[in-house]
Amino acid sequence: MNNISREHAVQFISSLRNLIEKEMNILTHIEDLPEVNLGMDKDVFKGVSNGFLSEVIYTMTGRKVEVIGEVENLFPCPCCGFKTLTERYNKDAGTGYDICPYCTWEDDGTIDPYAYRSINKGSMIDYRNEMASNPNRYHTNKWIKAKSNE
Ligand SMILES: [Zn+2]
Repeated sequence: MNNISREHAVQFISSLRNLIEKEMNILTHIEDLPEVNLGMDKDVFKGVSNGFLSEVIYTMTGRKVEVIGEVENLFPCPCCGFKTLTERYNKDAGTGYDICPYCTWEDDGTIDPYAYRSINKGSMIDYRNEMASNPNRYHTNKWIKAKSNE
C-alpha cells in the first residue's frame, strides 16, 4: 500500500472534482453517461454499501446523492465480520480461499482466532490487532457488517 499525505489526498480529490465539473454536470446528465465496459471495476464494488457509493460520488463530484438498490449479499469474513467474501470455505466443494478486501485475511477455513496460519502469516487475532492499531487504513462504512447469526 502506498502512503499519501493528507494534503496530497485533498489536492488529488479536488483536482479530480474540478476536472469532472469542467467536463460535465455528471448528475444532471446521468442518463447520458457513455456505455463502458465495467470489467474488473464492477467486482471492486460488489457488496459495498450504498452509503459508501454515495460517499465516492460525493468525493468525486462534490454532489450529494442517495444511492438506492439492493446490495449483493456476500458471505461474512471470519476475521473482520464484514460481508466481503464471494464464497465460503468448503473443503469438500473446493471453495473458499477468498481474500477479504477489508482485512486481507485469506479464508482457509480457520475458526480458532488464535491459530497461526502460515497462509496468512499470522492469526486472526493478529489481523484484528492490526486493524485496531491502524484506524486510518480501515474505513468501516464500506462493507456491511454481518449480523451475529450469519
Ligand atoms: Zn475481513
